[in-house]
Amino acid sequence: MAEVRLEHVWKIYDNGVEAVKDATFTVEDKEFVVLLGPSGCGKTTTLRMIAGLEEITKGTIYIDGKVVNDVEPKDRDIAMVFQNYALYPHMTVYENMAFGLRLRKFPKAEIDKRVKEAARILGIENLLDRKPRQLSGGQRQRVAVGRAIVRNPKVFLFDEPLSNLDAKLRVQMRAELKKLHHRLEATIVYVTHDQVEAMTMANKIVVIKDGVIQQIGDPHTIYNKPANKFVAGFIGSPPMNFINAKIIRGEGGLWVQTSGFKVKVPKEYEDALADYIDKDVTFGIRPENIYDKMFAYAPTPENTITGMVDVVEPLGSETILHVKVGDDLITAKVDPKTKAQEGQNIDLVLDMERMHVFDPETEKAVI
Ligand code: ATP
Repeated sequence: MAEVRLEHVWKIYDNGVEAVKDATFTVEDKEFVVLLGPSGCGKTTTLRMIAGLEEITKGTIYIDGKVVNDVEPKDRDIAMVFQNYALYPHMTVYENMAFGLRLRKFPKAEIDKRVKEAARILGIENLLDRKPRQLSGGQRQRVAVGRAIVRNPKVFLFDEPLSNLDAKLRVQMRAELKKLHHRLEATIVYVTHDQVEAMTMANKIVVIKDGVIQQIGDPHTIYNKPANKFVAGFIGSPPMNFINAKIIRGEGGLWVQTSGFKVKVPKEYEDALADYIDKDVTFGIRPENIYDKMFAYAPTPENTITGMVDVVEPLGSETILHVKVGDDLITAKVDPKTKAQEGQNIDLVLDMERMHVFDPETEKAVI
């Protein structure tokens, strides 16, 4: 059992910066939780407070149900993997992995067993005699993880461990960390600003902005039901389109009216919009929910809009279109077989079942 719980935790640095404001969340036993947010939002500070490397200004942190506010880092039974790996350059891989256990006066045979087992799990048995400088970035990263594994800690803390790797290796290590999580049945708290890492690895994502938690949920919920405009815009690539609009009553029900188009609101969303009729809203739709009409499943006049193609970006597996519609530039991720040409008109079909509406003042999601 290894559960981590933060209750109303604050970190106010001596210079007055409120890095973490009233954070409350639980990392369940064996859960892989990702703290996600832009640079400076307080992710690392949160992780360091869990590790005990940073004092808490207010609030309580529990590990396994016990308050650890005043427990030394070394007594918290956690292992942290840093962005820069922090390997000892003069020690071999074996010695790097064994070092923490030696300090704790583990018997030699036990150290040997644990190091070899971790090396086997990570596929680095053939590297044990090398020094860090004789390793690739990915291999160093594995050694850093190995050093955490040998400790057999209650909780693993990862601080952007993949950000120094090239794109291809990152994809590979992402899959490896995910497998490792299953294999070790470990409780993991993982910090990143990379939404793809969060979506692919997490059981639960905690989205943070300016020290404040915006939403806590599984990747599916965070993507499909973002709590506010910030979360909606942070997850997904290219990001969700946000368009100034009005909700109006029209033929057959409610419509979304913008400077350049009018589309019908599906019946099931009408109740939620009752308070917004004739009011300004922010209409949201993801690029992947907009289709070139030639490849659309169910185009109707009620979900089709027309615009002028500004830029075409073919990516092979899909094509990104930037289309001018009224005052807005809308991004669509369409079938790569599209015939769209810059400077020409195109009909786009919006999957209105997947529409979002945000309150323009509070930025909270209405739909
Ligand atoms: P990044 O992804 O860039 O590492 P982050 O989300 O991890 O960012 P933190 O490192 O937790 O953010 O920093 C949160 C805020 O606290 C920032 O505004 C930062 O400048 C500030 N901060 C961090 N460490 C200190 C410190 N020791 N003293 C004062 N302010 C600090």
